[in-house]
Amino acid sequence: MLKSLQKELEQRQADGLLRQRRLLDSPQAEHIVANNKPYLSFCSNDYLGLANHPSLIAAMQQAAGNAGVGSGASGLVTGHHRYHDDLEKQLARFVNLPAALLFSTGYMANIGTLGALAGRGDAIFADKLNHACLNDGSYYSLAEFNRFAHNDVAALERLLKVSTAKHKLIAVDAVFSMDGDLAPIPDYLALCEKYDAYLYVDDAHGFGVLGEQGKGSLNYFHLTKNMPKSPRIIMMATLGKAAGVAGSFVAGEQVVIDYLIQKAKSYVYSTPAPPALSATLAASVKLIEQGDDLRANLNSLIAYLKDNLKLKKWQLMASDTPIQPLVVGGNKEALALSEYLQTLGILVPAIRPPTVPVGTARLRISLSAAHTLEDVKKLVAAIHQAESELGA
Ligand SMILES: *Cc1c(COP(=O)(O)O)cnc(C)c1O
Repeated sequence: MLKSLQKELEQRQADGLLRQRRLLDSPQAEHIVANNKPYLSFCSNDYLGLANHPSLIAAMQQAAGNAGVGSGASGLVTGHHRYHDDLEKQLARFVNLPAALLFSTGYMANIGTLGALAGRGDAIFADKLNHACLNDGSYYSLAEFNRFAHNDVAALERLLKVSTAKHKLIAVDAVFSMDGDLAPIPDYLALCEKYDAYLYVDDAHGFGVLGEQGKGSLNYFHLTKNMPKSPRIIMMATLGKAAGVAGSFVAGEQVVIDYLIQKAKSYVYSTPAPPALSATLAASVKLIEQGDDLRANLNSLIAYLKDNLKLKKWQLMASDTPIQPLVVGGNKEALALSEYLQTLGILVPAIRPPTVPVGTARLRISLSAAHTLEDVKKLVAAIHQAESELGA
């Protein structure tokens, strides 16, 4: 076996697909020290610049003093601390849904929730560009897995129309992680009503960024603002991206949450994240709530980048979110651009297949409220310089 592993790794290297980790010696921020060198970074999903926020660091230190550092047991045994419980209630109130349940990561939430809510005889309908963990959750659930072309409402409707599944669940990214565009969520919700389906929205990249006070994509589309809300909505958001810490939550009807507490295996058979993280997240959600200035700065940086990047060959995808992908095409070409920027002291990750479709390798530029206009100007100048240097 080891020989074949080695061979596969060598092939990846030859194809320009070998991934390498950078070693970080600084906090996660817009200026980082990676592999012993300082860089201006456009790599993180810390969209509001909270991952190294002084008041969150203080909250974590204080909470660890009160609650210790470990949860010790499954949430169903003695691992469910008051800090966890308070955060669940705060998150449900914040996104304006009846109830919420914490998971240790977004990956665990998707696997556990799809696995619990769908099974044999049921069907999951998924956008082809969904995040890998929605796919994994679907496979794990053993439900019939139907994929439709990206954001293609008509294609989804064709699938729903002929489906004879007992329960139907539409599962989509709200903001697509490698494209930055939004799913037509209101259209999907209308299809749910028409075909008696439920909607599972993964808001990993909308939570904290979109909607009033950063309440996320459902709020952005006015779907959770007023009563009555559709009981067909189930949302998930990660807490390691805009919220700056770690973990995730699922929110929806009380009966859904009660069911997940019994049946989501990645909740039941896993130790919850430390209670101190929940206390830190409680402070983070307050910063998100009061973070209109951060979001205003972020949006002005997005607009600046889009208005000022004028390239001949490479193109920014149509995105209004902090995820601004610059499509390059070939794997080696994308890698060469990323490496060139790195020599200028700027880190932007090259994203290659299988994360994105073949022939669409790209630089995934992600902007943060912690960036300054100067930072973005530097990036724009560097990409322009790269285009002339690399002979694009
Ligand atoms: C990052 C991400 C996840 C996974 O969340 P983690 O908390 O990092 O495990 C799930 N869905 C989407 C769309 C993501 O981008």
